[in-house]
Amino acid sequence: MARKRSPFSQIPAVDRVLHELENDAQLPPLPLPLITDLVRQKIESLRDHLKGGGESVGEFDEIVADIRADIVSLYQSRIHPVINGTGVIIHTNLGRSPLSKTVVEKLTQVGQYYNNIELDLGTGERGKRGGFLEIALANLIEAEAATVCNNCAAALILILKHLAKGEKNEVIISRGELVEIGGGFRVPDIMKVSGAQLVEIGATNKTTLEDYRDAITERTGMLLKVHRSNFYMEGFTHEPTTEELVELGKEFNLPVVEDLGSGAMLPTDSLAPIPHEPTATEVLNRGVDVVCVSGDKLFGGPQAGIIAGRADLVAGIKKEPFFRALRCDKLILTGLQETVIEYLKGKSGASADLPLIRKLSLTVDDLMPRAEAIVKALNHDAVSIGEGLARCGGGTMPKAEMPSVTIDISPKGVSLKKFAKRLRDRELPMVGYVADDKYRLDLRTIMPEQDAAVIENLKAVL
Ligand SMILES: *Cc1c(COP(=O)(O)O)cnc(C)c1O
Repeated sequence: MARKRSPFSQIPAVDRVLHELENDAQLPPLPLPLITDLVRQKIESLRDHLKGGGESVGEFDEIVADIRADIVSLYQSRIHPVINGTGVIIHTNLGRSPLSKTVVEKLTQVGQYYNNIELDLGTGERGKRGGFLEIALANLIEAEAATVCNNCAAALILILKHLAKGEKNEVIISRGELVEIGGGFRVPDIMKVSGAQLVEIGATNKTTLEDYRDAITERTGMLLKVHRSNFYMEGFTHEPTTEELVELGKEFNLPVVEDLGSGAMLPTDSLAPIPHEPTATEVLNRGVDVVCVSGDKLFGGPQAGIIAGRADLVAGIKKEPFFRALRCDKLILTGLQETVIEYLKGKSGASADLPLIRKLSLTVDDLMPRAEAIVKALNHDAVSIGEGLARCGGGTMPKAEMPSVTIDISPKGVSLKKFAKRLRDRELPMVGYVADDKYRLDLRTIMPEQDAAVIENLKAVL
């Protein structure tokens, strides 16, 4: 009588699968250790399946196909360029603000060679890390002093650690500003990790100057204002003006801090038909002692937190031991430095060459010739030019909408969901949006030099 074959004999050996994959010329170029691990995990899960009472694990070819799909999806998940056709200019899922070519060229040089990040070339002694950047940033913001750290969340933690500690760790904030900005930034949680004691005042829609005054005790460390970057309050609302809050702070000798977040450096309403977003300069001119903003929102640089304001307070914040844990590396410092230089060039006449500023300032007339060229090159009856509305995104300016031009596609014989997936699966993935039963690509957020790739991608899937 023939011995019953063990069900485990259906499971192929790791080497056999690897050998099969080796012969697949279309396999993504993922390093072999990662592929080997995926194969091992799959074989392990098949064994578990059988141990758990599963009957069959499928044919060899199916197993290899499954593993291949895992390899493709792991390969796709590495960070690499994407075409942003969403019309959302600062898209947090797509890396927020793109950097300018000039900035990236400087990054390449600093990254590739040694640099003087902490060397004073004049004396040959140890130098100040990011010293130039701090001077240039303070000049741009018209602040007494400025410094930078990992991101705006880190900036707020450092400010709280410095200004709300020990016997005076209470921070007074309006209930209307205990906001969540997105990406896990909740003001009450930030307070907790910083060791500050939150003192909530007022109601969600109304907070008066008297509410602030009544909450001040000998334990108060500072008054905090948080900009409602990503939502609007309208109707039966009230809050004291920044100037009133600053007066109150002076009366009790308390610093007033504003977490502004969005980081506009230029008047947004002069770039596009959108509302005016307060700038760090304006906030400081109203008398606020310290302001913090993000580096990769409307500022248009790499991820960073920018702290600006009174020189004594900025110096104190830099001396906090925790500052060391949140400091920026040489690439980020260089990216910020070159971005600030672009702005300062803009201030002195030439316009700031930053993708974010350009994207905000584009008009329908600027976009239309590109749309016409793309539609002409595709010459396909499923493709047409449409009107769209682009947005700032990144948790900034929720009311700002800019008229835009879209490439609209009504694919035949395939769902919009599948069509969108096919475009995300391209070597240079493309992300659009679905509206009015069409797949749409907003040209405002697509880099003009990517138009050829847009055509190629669409040709390949249509
Ligand atoms: C976006 C934002 C933050 C968080 O900024 P990150 O740089 O992402 O850490 C904090 N505060 C406000 C008001 C914001 O808009």
